[in-house]
Amino acid sequence: MQPKHDGLVARSLAAVWHPCTQMKRHEAQPPVAIARAQGPWLHGTDGQRYLDGISSWWVNLFGHSHPHIQAALVDQLGQLDHVMLAGFTHAPVVELSERLAALTGLGHAFYGSDGAAATEIALKMSAHYWRNTGRPAKSRFVGLAGGYHGETVGALAVTDIAIFREAYAPLVRLADTVPSPDAHGAAPGETAQDVARRAAAALEAWLQEHHSTTAAFIVEPLVQCAAGMALHDPEYLRLARALCNRYEVHLVVDEIAVGFGRTGTMFAHQQAGIRPDFICLSKGLTGGTLPLSAVLTTDAVYAAFYDDDVARGFLHSHSYTGNPLACRAALATLELFEQLDALNANKTLAQHIDTACKPLTQHPRVRHARRLGMIWAWDVDTTLPDFARRYHQHAMTRGLVLRPIGKTLYAMPPYVLDDEAVQCLASGALDALNATLQEES
Ligand SMILES: *Cc1c(COP(=O)(O)O)cnc(C)c1O
Repeated sequence: MQPKHDGLVARSLAAVWHPCTQMKRHEAQPPVAIARAQGPWLHGTDGQRYLDGISSWWVNLFGHSHPHIQAALVDQLGQLDHVMLAGFTHAPVVELSERLAALTGLGHAFYGSDGAAATEIALKMSAHYWRNTGRPAKSRFVGLAGGYHGETVGALAVTDIAIFREAYAPLVRLADTVPSPDAHGAAPGETAQDVARRAAAALEAWLQEHHSTTAAFIVEPLVQCAAGMALHDPEYLRLARALCNRYEVHLVVDEIAVGFGRTGTMFAHQQAGIRPDFICLSKGLTGGTLPLSAVLTTDAVYAAFYDDDVARGFLHSHSYTGNPLACRAALATLELFEQLDALNANKTLAQHIDTACKPLTQHPRVRHARRLGMIWAWDVDTTLPDFARRYHQHAMTRGLVLRPIGKTLYAMPPYVLDDEAVQCLASGALDALNATLQEES
């Protein structure tokens, strides 16, 4: 059958403002119209198919249109689409909250719709906690250099990526940053643990001076993804936990990108054996079906809001809070981790991908090849200032979706790649690299 798209691309350019995009670029490289998606494959309206090597911005953990999640959503749609969560409750939100509590050891799930909202909820809760406990001066935040926690005006306060924040800086109450424990910053002879200790010492110096006005320290545990898949040693999280205890500052772990098995464990902070005060979740939470985020916190934080006075309660009113469909999709996603024994299956799959990607890892222009769990990254030694855009284009012509961050090529594939998909990823990524490097003058 002839694909039918009725000029979808032109209509999109006329009517839709696309995210993270300079729209003028689309004059040369129009967006690709997708008609349907199945497993790790996106199918274009032009009949082409593309392997989704980055899980559509890191959300489609089990690929697209997974029948288990689909069936759960259809069932839920026949029962309860939505009800406001103020004054009401329902089975999907209760069951999801119970399961997240069992997985993390933190109860009291508060829901939002996206990652940036989760960041803002955690920051608001932390500052309000200190206010409720008689220390209103503790209202500021600190994060890591190169940190990414979302792009709304509140979340930008703790996002330290210049391109996202420059134009909006005057609107934002910028938080301070402390040095990143990025293992790549190791001096000759230094280990990743040494870098972690050095960065923790800088955090300590900062806290010594500012703890009395600081509510929380926010960190992406183990991988600063948006910074270019910068990895750090779990030792940093252990030291940060101890420092936050000593200086009475909350520890917020942003697991929005790294949660749900991405780093090899269900949650990244678990590799450090620590318990944070807040966990932010989103992205993979619903397996890429519906927008949902959650903030989990401790009994101690919850108790500080429990009062006769409404103003001492946590006030954050979002119309779709705890939407039943989204919660049901999240429950189905969590069920898939058990049904597919996903964390173990990923270990085998990751080795398979490692083997297939060996020529890329050993490419003479690749530096600092690294992997953690189901995240691969390769820094490319290139003079091309627009390497990322060119690479993306070459990968697309090979039926592969990869979007480098600067000169860092990375893959964050769905957990459901078969042999054919692994080969497409490995050979497409390598061929696209060679084709891009040929454009260097
Ligand atoms: C994507 C991301 C966010 C923001 O999530 P959105 O749903 O895009 O608002 C926050 N933190 C981290 C670590 C992320 O990767």
